[in-house]
Amino acid sequence: MTNRTFTMIKPDAVANGHIGAILEKVTSAGFKIVAMKYTQLSRRDAEKFYAIHKERPFYGELVQFMTRGPIVSAILEKDNAVDDFRALIGATNPAEAAEGTIRKLFATNISENAVHGSDSDENAAIEGAFHFSGREIY
Ligand code: GDP
Repeated sequence: MTNRTFTMIKPDAVANGHIGAILEKVTSAGFKIVAMKYTQLSRRDAEKFYAIHKERPFYGELVQFMTRGPIVSAILEKDNAVDDFRALIGATNPAEAAEGTIRKLFATNISENAVHGSDSDENAAIEGAFHFSGREIY
């Protein structure tokens, strides 16, 4: 699975009408979409997905934000997918993100930062399996 990563277009970017522009950046950068859905996380889903951040002060705010509206979730394929996608989206805080990155272009702030990108091959596999069954991956 080292050539796959998992992403979400978060509720802020969906609400602000950026789905099309973000997908254009993703596919132009050479990522192939192997799974995709338009969905909304339940509170339980978001708490589980972000369980690693449970002790962080922003956990409650993060769960609240990620459940407030629909998201697009996807599994992407490309050589070096995890690292290349993290480079494409930019730093967690859009104020620190490089010019031209997705977060620089479309994020609002460190919380509402437009997109998720897995931080390791291991987490990419876990996160992809959390959102998609085998028969939804092409
Ligand atoms: P990422 O890997 O770049 O998404 O960053 P992290 O794994 O550190 O954090 C996960 C998500 O939690 C981020 O994408 C933000 O949506 C949110 N987040 C991170 N740091 C903060 C913070 O300091 N304050 C708030 N409100 N949200 C944060």
